[in-house]
Amino acid sequence: MPELPEIETIKNDLAVKLLNKKIVQIKVNLPKIVKNPLAGFLKKLINESFKKVNRRGKLMIFEINKDLFLLIHLRMTGQLIYQEKGVVIAGGHSDTKLDFSLPGKHTHLYFTFADKSQLFFNDLRQFGYAKLVDKKELDQTLLRFGVEPLSADFTLQKLKDLLKNKKRNIKAFLLDQQVIAGIGNIYADEILFASKVFPLRRTETLNAKEIADIHTNTKKILQKAIKYRGTTFNNYVDSEGKKGSFLNFLQVYQRANKPCLKCKSIIKKIKVAGRGTSLCQKCQK
Ligand SMILES: [Zn+2]
Repeated sequence: MPELPEIETIKNDLAVKLLNKKIVQIKVNLPKIVKNPLAGFLKKLINESFKKVNRRGKLMIFEINKDLFLLIHLRMTGQLIYQEKGVVIAGGHSDTKLDFSLPGKHTHLYFTFADKSQLFFNDLRQFGYAKLVDKKELDQTLLRFGVEPLSADFTLQKLKDLLKNKKRNIKAFLLDQQVIAGIGNIYADEILFASKVFPLRRTETLNAKEIADIHTNTKKILQKAIKYRGTTFNNYVDSEGKKGSFLNFLQVYQRANKPCLKCKSIIKKIKVAGRGTSLCQKCQK
């Protein structure tokens, strides 16, 4: 699943390419991916252009005008692929091979711009969505998002306050988008490993140092992942053919049954909060 660093990367890449290009054609191959009545969706977007691209948590927000926004959420397996002559920008889900013969069988929605460049929304498992909203609905939607972990609002005190009333395990806490927006399975595991905290630890049992470490490592790991254009697997290639290379820095995620990079004991994989969770029983308390 694409998380904050992967969405931030594709958002920044698309902003360079897409903005202010006139949308001349929209094809919807799978109507359920569009969460509006289709005729209105098409009518409101055709001949318009995206003026800005923003991100909140893992949600992408394309601004058409001050009262019209296209929300795109990639969820588990969504991908956005932009194509123009000689240039391909791809972002999102990367566990599977990207199909660059576009539109492909998992392309559910795509836009063609006046200069013939195209933006494809692919989604193998079809949990992602596109939705047009006005400013009021956008604001309502954004109310459901927790603090942005890389914003100035996410202070150590803020994390302490958030932890106060949330009695559950720390992994579930980190994954809760209404508490902190943008962290998913990869980065939750990495943050907890770096902080030497066992994922099943109850939040009320964390000491001051552990909380401070979780705070520092959240910022540090997400920032580094953005710097390296996210974590991508297999054949995923992004704009200009570059691979997201944070994969090379993963300390625990997808290392089950391999020796811990710190202590050499074997990395275990267990289920926490419904998600496969990699951890070191020796390093993480
Ligand atoms: Zn270890």
